[in-house]
Amino acid sequence: MIPFNKPYLTGKETEYIEDAVLTGKLSGNGKYTKLCQHYFEEKYNFGKCLLTTSCTDALEMAAILANIQPGDEVIMPSYTFVSTSNAFVLRGAKIVFADSRKDHPGIDEASIESLITEKTKVIVPVHYAGVACNMEKIMNLATKYNLLVIEDAAQAIDSYYTFSDGSKKVLGSIGHLSAFSFHETKNIISGEGGMLVVNDLKFSNRAEIIWEKGTNRSAFFKGEVDKYGWVDIGSSFLPSEIIAAFLWAQLENLEKIQTKRIGIWNNYYFGLEKWAKKNDVILPYRPDYSTNNAHMFYLVCKSIEQRTILIKKLKEHGISAVFHYLSLHESPFYHSKHDGRALPKSNHYSNCLVRLPLFYELKEEDIKKIIDIITTI
Ligand SMILES: *Cc1c(COP(=O)(O)O)cnc(C)c1O
Repeated sequence: MIPFNKPYLTGKETEYIEDAVLTGKLSGNGKYTKLCQHYFEEKYNFGKCLLTTSCTDALEMAAILANIQPGDEVIMPSYTFVSTSNAFVLRGAKIVFADSRKDHPGIDEASIESLITEKTKVIVPVHYAGVACNMEKIMNLATKYNLLVIEDAAQAIDSYYTFSDGSKKVLGSIGHLSAFSFHETKNIISGEGGMLVVNDLKFSNRAEIIWEKGTNRSAFFKGEVDKYGWVDIGSSFLPSEIIAAFLWAQLENLEKIQTKRIGIWNNYYFGLEKWAKKNDVILPYRPDYSTNNAHMFYLVCKSIEQRTILIKKLKEHGISAVFHYLSLHESPFYHSKHDGRALPKSNHYSNCLVRLPLFYELKEEDIKKIIDIITTI
């Protein structure tokens, strides 16, 4: 059996967890939380970083920070994970779903401006498969219409965007706020886990308060106030030190993990290139302004029938290939709330996209086997 995903352990996770346990500090915002947050702030030049229990939680924090009120509109792709949307719906927002690009499952940037109204507050670009959205275009729209940009960077660790003037910025550092995931299916993991990045520092104090259940506890421990109490809304968004210790072991190996994943990704790409062309299957596209962080290797089949055959054939050989999102604008929860616009490209990816196994311990002979099976179909 070749699974779709297998969480990779670097070997130090349990050692650091034991250390966290032995120091007797198990709740959040301790030594390992700070190590991880500083790592990100320094390596990627992020604003303020706050570890969270999931990317879902980081997005919920972002929606609170954006001060979303009932009736506010938030623009995002329909082809995304439910948490991207739910975080804003929880605050009463109306989601205005955009279609995907023709060449990529990410948001069709060209369609965004026509969706902006008086009520629009936020644009949420989702960097699907770690491939950057056109952030220059999106940030320009945000400036023009005075909107916030919240990057769903769940899949986007260690991936970069190049602006037209040649300057380069890591994904997650461009929007006013960004959310990352360390769920076990992502490149860098902690089981469940995530991070809020606050690039617009005017949100930084409030972010800490929301993170700590609506109290100014963080300011108290930094000696900035002499007692702490309830000052705002919030929740328990911070993970325990056990999670942060696990994450620290992963971060120490980030480059090794990335190099390995990119190698696997390239093997797939070059092994399937000819076959894909012959069979009208589309391999992952990457605009010149984005790097590839090898979060995912996917194929876009020409029809749902073709995809069904592919998944079935691979399954017969013990290989797990899986499709991905179902358009949120057609979901049981949201279809009656959607404004009725057809989003055909999003539906096309729902029907035709399939993801191949990609994880650190995937062996070269397994990749070869997967390619061999696919190319006989
Ligand atoms: C994984 C993922 C999330 C959710 O991450 P969790 O850490 O599981 O909450 C949100 N958005 C996208 C695009 C994702 O891929």
